[in-house]
Amino acid sequence: MSNGSFFSAPGRRGGTLALVLAALAPLGLGGWLLWDNLGQGDDDGGTPASSLPTVSSTSSPLPAQPPQSPSTSPKSDGKPLTGKVVVLDPGHNPNNRDHTSEIARRVDIGTNEKECDTTGTATESGYAEASFTLDVSRRARALLEARGATVKFTQDDDRPYGPCVDERARIGNSAHADAVVSVHADGAPAGDRGFHVILPKSVRGGGADTSEIAAPSRRLGEQVRSEFMDATGSAPADYIGDGSGLNVRGDLGGLNLSTVPKVFIECGNMRDSKDAAELTDPKWRERAALGIAQGITDFLNR
Ligand code: ZN
Repeated sequence: MSNGSFFSAPGRRGGTLALVLAALAPLGLGGWLLWDNLGQGDDDGGTPASSLPTVSSTSSPLPAQPPQSPSTSPKSDGKPLTGKVVVLDPGHNPNNRDHTSEIARRVDIGTNEKECDTTGTATESGYAEASFTLDVSRRARALLEARGATVKFTQDDDRPYGPCVDERARIGNSAHADAVVSVHADGAPAGDRGFHVILPKSVRGGGADTSEIAAPSRRLGEQVRSEFMDATGSAPADYIGDGSGLNVRGDLGGLNLSTVPKVFIECGNMRDSKDAAELTDPKWRERAALGIAQGITDFLNR
């Protein structure tokens, strides 16, 4: 984990901002500009010129903007994720195996139809993916809540099966989540190793339109990839994504129907004995949860 990225850093814009504030102080605009700048959230270290108010050379009065007190900041408690909503989506459901006909029902994913849900995979020794996804998600929830986030689950082993993939997407949407991560482990052939993050392809069709979320989801995914790699020491998958640890897909209902930034993470390959040794280790799962939580934190604080 890289503690240095825990809080957002104003970075290089600070010097420019100070100059602008000094110039505008006589106009009484400093307070508003400072607030506006803090609210930008751009990640390239610079405020785009187009987002600054136009200062006319004829010194005509600018429209009055009410100064905002820093005490209204949602981070006034000092926690980095206060005011943020994170939805965690533990893939599958341990009870799906007892409801195979219900989860086989076809649901509309906008671009296509897909089965409601699947049972997920398991290790050779029988450790189910659905148990893994719940354990890692619960560990990540504890970390994110300690940082001030409101965390919601799509399921917490509290329903007979599912939810279906369309409902999983709707839960993130109706929560107005700032970020959603769907937690999985893969079922690739033995010998295939590593983790990868699945990003939504930009698709439109039926009720699916990911054109607005594709870019922020990529930023979320890249942060999760970096932090997961740091926290676990795992390598990006050697069987998909050309070693990038990223894979873009347009066939997943949970991504296609999302209207908020969302990625999947396949934490490793349950069918490979070396990967399985990690996935079945609670200490490794804590590190996996830390990587996911830190990636979300980086994304929300950029
Ligand atoms: Zn899965």
